[in-house]
Amino acid sequence: MGITSGTGVRLLLLICFVGHVRLQQSAKDYNYTGNKLMEVHLDRDSHVRVIKNLKDSFLEHWPKVFATGGRVHVVAPSEEYVKVQRNFTEGGMKYKVLNPSHGINTNELEMRGLENNLEMTWEFYNPLSEIDRYVKGIAANHEFVELLQIGQTAEERQILGLRINPGNSSHKVWIDGGFHAREWISPATVTYIVDQLTRNYTNNKDIADGFDWWIVPVANPDGYEYTWTHDRLWRKNRRHSNNTQCVGVDLNRNWDFYWMEVGASSDPCSPVYAGPFAESEPEVRAVRDLILELNSDNSLAIMLTIHSFYQAWMAPWGFKYEIPEDLDEMLAVLKAAVSAVKNTHGMEYKHGQVTEFLRPASGCQDDWGKGVAKIKHSYTVELRDRGRNGFTLPRDQILPTAQETWEGVKAAVRKVVESKKRL
Ligand SMILES: [Zn+2]
Repeated sequence: MGITSGTGVRLLLLICFVGHVRLQQSAKDYNYTGNKLMEVHLDRDSHVRVIKNLKDSFLEHWPKVFATGGRVHVVAPSEEYVKVQRNFTEGGMKYKVLNPSHGINTNELEMRGLENNLEMTWEFYNPLSEIDRYVKGIAANHEFVELLQIGQTAEERQILGLRINPGNSSHKVWIDGGFHAREWISPATVTYIVDQLTRNYTNNKDIADGFDWWIVPVANPDGYEYTWTHDRLWRKNRRHSNNTQCVGVDLNRNWDFYWMEVGASSDPCSPVYAGPFAESEPEVRAVRDLILELNSDNSLAIMLTIHSFYQAWMAPWGFKYEIPEDLDEMLAVLKAAVSAVKNTHGMEYKHGQVTEFLRPASGCQDDWGKGVAKIKHSYTVELRDRGRNGFTLPRDQILPTAQETWEGVKAAVRKVVESKKRL
């Protein structure tokens, strides 16, 4: 059953408002100490209304579907906490504080000294400099790997990628990560996949040889860097626009497919700002151009864009509820993926059409992939967790998340080729 289909379903959802407007206008370095992660029970319709009224003043909340009989997670900035608490008390709602300093996750933020110059690891999150160094090293040390410089950001960073094609395969696979800056588990997972295909090639020879892998671990390097230096929960890129103090565009609302029609904002201060026009952003244009080139002969078998969090493998459409005519074929691939994921560490991921789980939003990459680039298998993967840690996933979950996702990727690409052969 989809979570939109009944009111009795127990839901565990997240509402998140993090005060980006305020922080851009007042403080450069925003400290999340004091943000409280709260769990709220929605026992009556009036409780749902309290959340809905409250969320109008939120800058961000995700996912957006919740119902009576469920629970929601709310992240209250410290200065809003008293107001939020009063609303819940007056509404007769049961709530508890799960984490009194959400966003400051000491487990996650425990980092190794950068000057140690150690080998790449998945025990820790890695800063951009380390990931770039690793990506270049992989290309330099493997003759079947090609370093890609696919574009340059507003802050003049190179967007790096790798082409890995040891078996001269014609089945192209696209994987990108890090479009949303704060989703650190995404670049961590995508670099792990790179590692399996290269440094662990001998153990993965069949799957590595069977495909022509095109991989971009950090599609939004300016944003990723910013989450390390200024604001851990930054989402957008870092391009400055005219006539506003607010910075950045949501790179998953900027694609030229029903751009700005639904679930996106024209307000530059919004975390889901779609940009001044479709494909205005260098990161989106860089990925767009390469994907269109790769699929000019219809040989891009599958495109995966890796995000967090929610634990789901999702198919278009995301901009409307109407189902695509080949949804069943896509669901077969996604089902193979989530089964393989579950078999790794027992973790349950959902699979289905985006709008089965989320309210419609347009200008997203997966819809563009299917609708414009004509990639039959164009998917968004939302990694761990379901909201308890959210974007600040503890570092002891990096490796298991990466491992299970790698199993899911292998199952998905195999299924795609299998279904092609049957035609
Ligand atoms: Zn995302």
